[in-house]
Amino acid sequence: MKALLVVTHDGQNLHPQMLSVVSAVKQLTKDYDCVVLGYQCSAVAQQAAQLPGVGLVYHVENSALANGMAENMVDALHPMMTDYDIMIFASNTFSKNILPRLAVSLDISPVTDVASIVDQDTFKRPIYAGNAIATVKTKQAKNILSIRTASFMPCDFDLHASTSIKSLSVQIHRDLSKFVGLESSASDRPDLSSAKRVVSGGRGLGSSENFSLIEDLAKCLGAAVGASRAAVDAGFVPNDYQVGQTGKIISPDIYIAIGISGAVQHLAGMKDARIIIAIDKDEDAPIFQVADYGLVADLFDAVPELQAYVTKRSRD
Ligand code: FAD
Repeated sequence: MKALLVVTHDGQNLHPQMLSVVSAVKQLTKDYDCVVLGYQCSAVAQQAAQLPGVGLVYHVENSALANGMAENMVDALHPMMTDYDIMIFASNTFSKNILPRLAVSLDISPVTDVASIVDQDTFKRPIYAGNAIATVKTKQAKNILSIRTASFMPCDFDLHASTSIKSLSVQIHRDLSKFVGLESSASDRPDLSSAKRVVSGGRGLGSSENFSLIEDLAKCLGAAVGASRAAVDAGFVPNDYQVGQTGKIISPDIYIAIGISGAVQHLAGMKDARIIIAIDKDEDAPIFQVADYGLVADLFDAVPELQAYVTKRSRD
């Protein structure tokens, strides 16, 4: 089986999620190549060449690929499938944008959010917000997968690898859509989807001003900031903070949920965290059923106390 792994990146760096995707790919096949699509992204191709076991890295440069527009990406990816049995993505917003169009254009039903690989045709994936696991067997000659990166341990780069990088040029003539702009929240905090520690706040914070309690605690713990959908919907934070079924699915070492009740849709995004700590004033809040450590307290007392403690410890 020959696999092609499509690299998620920001133009400069390969996304750390790809290290988990490689762990998944290695359970499927030893024969895999990578493709880096974008514009002025040769540094990413160099990094992809250090993914362990990769056979060949395709570097596809075109200004039309600069912003990850699905129409253009699919034009570039479609012909590449001829040489492969399976095309593999990380399950993230990049692939959620591209994958449906690619699947339709290739007439392949994709298997998304793969959390476990049973064999070359059989995969497990969560359904109903992670409350049930479906085992999916595909009989298609070729497949497209997206990998739930929280379910696979990241591998390490092979710094001694000397994989060839092959430049490919593609013709893209589409005028279907136009990139207008990117609005993203600049933050000096670690990236939420790959951070080892995450502090998340929910509706219990009550306002965007109060949400600074979460930001401050995260800063002092060197953690990323997350939020429940209720906090996002209430406008406390932008929606790229959202953790859960319709937000980011993460598996940090430590997840601290503050003023979050623990709805199934939220748990779907964080229950793979190694240690879960919850602070909530309602002792019956469902979050305590998944928490390793729980504190029943008013967050407006507990969070400043916790922060003062952490600050003192780091000073001592
Ligand atoms: P609440 O459920 O209102 O909980 C607030 C908590 O704060 C309560 O437990 C309360 O006791 C506590 N609290 C209040 N004041 C204090 C205080 N002073 N001190 C301590 N604790 C306090 N949700 C997500 O998070 N992510 C998703 O991706 C997501 N996707 C969804 C998809 C669908 C299709 C649907 C239908 C829903 C989805 N939801 C998602 C919404 C989800 O069902 C819940 O509504 C949401 O997670 C609730 O957020 P919350 O826990 O912040 O709010």
